[in-house]
Amino acid sequence: MSLAPSPRPGILSIDAYVPGKSKAPAGVKLHKLSSNETPLGPSPRAIEAYKAAAGALELYPDGAAEKLRIAIAGRYGLDPARLICGAGSDELLSYLANAYLGPGDEGLYSEHGFLVYKIATLAAGATPVIAKEKNLTTDVDAMLAAVTPKTRMVFLANPNNPTGTYLPFEEVKRLHAGLPGNVLLVLDAAYAEYVRRNDYSAGIELVATSENVVMTRTFSKIHGLANLRIGWMYGPAAIVDVVNRIRGPFNMNGPAIAAGIAAMEDREHEDKSVLHNAHWLAKTSAGLKALGLGVTPSVGNFVLVHFPDETGKRAPDADAFLTQRGIILRRMEAYGLPHALRLTIGSEEANLAVLAALQEFLAGKPA
Ligand SMILES: *Cc1c(COP(=O)(O)O)cnc(C)c1O
Repeated sequence: MSLAPSPRPGILSIDAYVPGKSKAPAGVKLHKLSSNETPLGPSPRAIEAYKAAAGALELYPDGAAEKLRIAIAGRYGLDPARLICGAGSDELLSYLANAYLGPGDEGLYSEHGFLVYKIATLAAGATPVIAKEKNLTTDVDAMLAAVTPKTRMVFLANPNNPTGTYLPFEEVKRLHAGLPGNVLLVLDAAYAEYVRRNDYSAGIELVATSENVVMTRTFSKIHGLANLRIGWMYGPAAIVDVVNRIRGPFNMNGPAIAAGIAAMEDREHEDKSVLHNAHWLAKTSAGLKALGLGVTPSVGNFVLVHFPDETGKRAPDADAFLTQRGIILRRMEAYGLPHALRLTIGSEEANLAVLAALQEFLAGKPA
């Protein structure tokens, strides 16, 4: 018998999540475009609220984040009792996996789905199952074909990170309709605010009318509060009750709650961020294509850039070249996309810098 402590089965098969790089060579201006952070930053009102909360750091927070839930509920017309806030939506995804998955169960997601689903599934001792995608988009038929009697959770990022593609609401409903009632469908709508398509829905209506669907959202992307760790979940009463039983009693902190409320109320800042992204997503995508690079059509605040053989250039070389110039993109090996880099839409200056640098890279200029 071994004398050293050993973790539950599955834990050691987890590859720990590797965040986007954030370092440029000394003396070069950094453009961090590797983590889908917003170039506009948070609402100034959120920053003010955060600072004001510094006066009461000795007091325990309201872990149930009631005021923040009320602000979110007011904004989206929801019942605050059916919301839960978490330290980022990542925490909520872990809670869900820990509550609904165990050894012998299967957690299902698509081929290039968000990496946290695999980590959450393995950490719960369950088995990850992957369904093939079509055109880097979730394939509902393949997802349904991968469901077995052991399936307990299905994760769908819509839009998906890192592909930027999305499923129209009709397809999401078809996926749900094909799942047995004992399978929990998790709609991860981290980028919902950015989507400008009239056949898209984050899924509120499906949660409201089902017993086995939850939607997770985040303040890390459009609201620019990634550093504060704020996510929320909307779900059926029974699932909210279950998650509240395992939620850390003080998983939310006061400054985050205060900043989150202010961010939720600042519609002007949110609209500005949506418009900035829509403008530069289109412009940057067109610019990349004009350089001969492949671009997966995205509805999020990032694009997947492919380096086709015709260019004679490889993604890792492009990454190294851009890094030399202080421009940090995300490598995609961990997502099974070694010929692509993911680029977050940044400020005007950053987007133009990427296009100019890639043009020189493709022309064979030295970094
Ligand atoms: C960024 C992201 C999240 C949000 O994570 P937080 O923990 O809320 O910062 C969730 N899902 C996807 C697909 C993401 O890309």
